[in-house]
Amino acid sequence: MSVLDAFGLAGKVAVVTGGNRGLGRAFTAALTEAGARVAIVARDAAKTAEVVDELATARGFQADVRRRADVDRVVEEIAAEMGGVDILVNNAGACVHAPALDVTEDDWAQVVDTNITGVWHCCQAFGRHMAGRGGGTIVNIGSISGLIVNRPQWQPAYNASKAAVHQLTKSLAAEWAPLGIRVNALAPGYIKTEMAPVDRPEFRQRWIDDVPMRRYATPEEIAPSLIYLASDASAFMTGSVLVIDGGYTTV
Ligand code: NDP
Repeated sequence: MSVLDAFGLAGKVAVVTGGNRGLGRAFTAALTEAGARVAIVARDAAKTAEVVDELATARGFQADVRRRADVDRVVEEIAAEMGGVDILVNNAGACVHAPALDVTEDDWAQVVDTNITGVWHCCQAFGRHMAGRGGGTIVNIGSISGLIVNRPQWQPAYNASKAAVHQLTKSLAAEWAPLGIRVNALAPGYIKTEMAPVDRPEFRQRWIDDVPMRRYATPEEIAPSLIYLASDASAFMTGSVLVIDGGYTTV
């Protein structure tokens, strides 16, 4: 296989949670360009329909990843409509910006239930499906927030949740390698999406000052790294956390 062929995903079925906007939308477009058919899993069906309209081979499935019954249902729906799933991208995420003493029970639950329990639900449900068909590839979207504490936008629940995503990735990678399932994480730095208030003046200068490359990323700049982890280009890689942050965590 040639080097470039290793990145190809023709004939593959990929699931992207939160694939209807932000980073997930860029992932959906990149996976489609690499040849995969993509199942978008998200709550907002109208927003998902907009993306499906643009990308002929993508399909939309409505689910809240915090609910196990939703996740089990979409595994069945996707398998029935699109065939066996080869790639899972756990991208759906939530963030609450608040200093620790101001975090409410609801804030904590929203972040932890989405970022840890939601990722777990999808890993276990799709992992079982993949094990039954001889293997697959899972990419969990972690964050530099799982590695360091970024200031001045305090987000203790988010930081804790992304560290958990990295550790869950390593745990499943070790356990599932004999099943033919690779599990890796992507840990991006700041990206301009609805989640990250990169344009708010109080954050903007500070964030950019702290990034050696002196800018934040676009979702499209992160997508090629996702293709690397999702494809045979990373065939011997499992349990890794790939940092892509403009040098932020080096300083
Ligand atoms: P956005 O807020 O722009 O998008 C979040 C996506 O997640 C939406 O598609 C949303 O769809 C989906 N989602 C949220 N909650 C649920 C749920 N309970 N069930 C199903 N889908 C859900 O975020 P980003 O694109 O910025 O972030 C994507 C991922 O990248 C997240 O995991 C985030 O933590 C991570 N990340 C982001 C960084 C950044 O700077 N932006 C940096 C590092 C990591 P819907 O509302 O329709 O359900």
